[in-house]
Amino acid sequence: MRIFVVFLLLLIAPLPVLASPQPENSWQQTYDKLRAEDTRLAFEYLQSHVNRLAPGSERIYVGATLARTAISLREGQSLTSSIVYSNNINDEILQHIVAALLFAHENIYSQTMAEFKQAISKAYTLEEPAVIATVELFYINVKISLANYVQLNHHIKEVERNVQLMNDLFWGVNSLHNVKALNANFNGDHALAIEMYQQAIANTVHEANKAPYYNNLALTYLDLGNFSDATKYLKKSLKLREQQNNQFKIALTMLNLGIVANRANQHQDALTWLDKAYQLYVEFNNSYRKAYTLVQKAKVYTKLKQTTKATNAIEQALSLISVTDNINLITDIRIHAAENMLTLGKVDAAIEQAMIAHDLALSVNDKSHLIQSLELLSDLTAKLGNYEQAYQFNTKLLMEKEQLNAQKSMQAMIALESELEVTAQQLENVRLEKSNNLQQQQISRLEERQRYQAVIIVFSLILLFLSLRGYNKHKYRAQHDNLTGALNRGAFVGRVTRFGNPTLGKKHALMLFDLDHFKQVNDAYGHPTGDLVLIQTAELVRNFFPQTALFARFGGEEFMVFIPNVTDDEIFELANQFRERLSTHDITTETREKMTVTASFSTLTYQNHLSNLDKIYSKLDVALYDAKNRGRNCVVKA
Ligand code: GH3
Ligand code: MG
Ligand code: MG
Repeated sequence: MRIFVVFLLLLIAPLPVLASPQPENSWQQTYDKLRAEDTRLAFEYLQSHVNRLAPGSERIYVGATLARTAISLREGQSLTSSIVYSNNINDEILQHIVAALLFAHENIYSQTMAEFKQAISKAYTLEEPAVIATVELFYINVKISLANYVQLNHHIKEVERNVQLMNDLFWGVNSLHNVKALNANFNGDHALAIEMYQQAIANTVHEANKAPYYNNLALTYLDLGNFSDATKYLKKSLKLREQQNNQFKIALTMLNLGIVANRANQHQDALTWLDKAYQLYVEFNNSYRKAYTLVQKAKVYTKLKQTTKATNAIEQALSLISVTDNINLITDIRIHAAENMLTLGKVDAAIEQAMIAHDLALSVNDKSHLIQSLELLSDLTAKLGNYEQAYQFNTKLLMEKEQLNAQKSMQAMIALESELEVTAQQLENVRLEKSNNLQQQQISRLEERQRYQAVIIVFSLILLFLSLRGYNKHKYRAQHDNLTGALNRGAFVGRVTRFGNPTLGKKHALMLFDLDHFKQVNDAYGHPTGDLVLIQTAELVRNFFPQTALFARFGGEEFMVFIPNVTDDEIFELANQFRERLSTHDITTETREKMTVTASFSTLTYQNHLSNLDKIYSKLDVALYDAKNRGRNCVVKA
């Protein structure tokens, strides 16, 4: 029963979480409501709210949103006093993001990325999905704002993955739709982009807050060459921005309206919008935006064939961008400048800008700008009649385009795989980093244990070796005669009785012999020499008989030899040969004298397997006695 209840709880537990509605009085609802009325009201609300939140993902989201709002209201400097940071890693992350957003606003690319790098690595160390999703999302937004669309896929996937891991609601759902759409646009998937924007628009409660999505939707239509829809959505966005009183966003929308109007060949409208935007950017003292607007104006002047005005606008733009640090944006402006100069017929100046753009694009591996600059350069050099150079630029261009195409198709195939890999790697890195200390400890403990184990293993091996040697020694001793090294009687009997049947036509043979008058040897030369005689006799046996033979000391000076697979004649002959060999063999006494001994022999063969040696032994014994009686030093068949 209890198991069933637990199971039921497990089954229903995730449901309330999944179905949980946005809390009634969440900061986001208040913020959204205020934002729809006036950006400044929303800003002030966030300012008052941020320090009420405990360090964590929500505070990171609120703090970063506050920073963005502050920057768009040109209140970026107030951020240092707005947010009171505690000594907590979540707050450290927020601090990095705020710093990054401020650098991004100044178009200082390297510093922006450096701050984000810190924020991201700290977020992954925390292993908190809400924090990772939040940081990654702001990172993507900032990358896009700095015109760096490269490798966004992975970060978008990371946000999605972590949002899925979250138990709580994710504040940035619409923002995620937005970055997914921007990424889709960059990859040429305008249909997906439109779908994403529409989702974000549908999700947004207050009409005024739909402004950014209308703006981006308009730019998608611009990409598709649909100028009327582009204009329509931009005007919608502008109206809402004016309602919110967000001057920075108003300027941006006006700039976009100018670009669209120019593309639609409504040149006067274009100039009007661009002038308005420019005036605001002057107020904001935003060099990059001023430069960008000027380049767009130059494009209009060029179309209107107002050469001097176009040239002036470009030169002014170029003088403004020199202070910024964002290579992607600079490259973009230089390409616009080169295009304009080409149209104006200023080929040398155009080549200069295109070359700078080309080198910049190469330095940051920006393929789209590289291709644009190469296109320009091949055009320009051809115009100058420098066909050799034009050919070279064209070759490079072709190569880059092929690479890009190959990359794109390859990308589609390996995207998932590589992203999975990167994700796994990143996770692994973070885990490794996080548990580094612990692991270090574990490793050293393990190493210590391994060393200890190694010692134990070596010891055990030594012990095993010793005991095996001991065992073997013991076993050897148990089976062999100490003095001669011959098998003892018991071991010999065991082995002989286990021996298999003889091969066809052969028999197994036993030969017993006893040294003659051995008592006299002992008496004449001493017991130690008697031992030497026994030892040297045994040695002689081992050297004389085949390897398959077994040899035992049966009694004091009585030995038995088992010789397998022989005939009666062979063994008789062999026994006689050995008898002869022994009798003529010089034995060295204890006093290094030479002497010889003889022995009496009896032999016996058998065909069937022996289970008992007693009977046979007594037969051999009788025959040996016979040999002694016959005068010794002879062989008697049993
Ligand atoms: P026979 O030709 O009739 O066999 O005469 P024998 O002297 O060899 O006969 P016997 O059996 O009377 O003597 C055996 C002697 O062998 C007795 C003993 O002192 C000696 N002997 C037995 N074992 C050893 C041993 O391990 N070392 C020495 N040095 N002598 C041994
Ligand atoms: Mg004897
Ligand atoms: Mg004897």
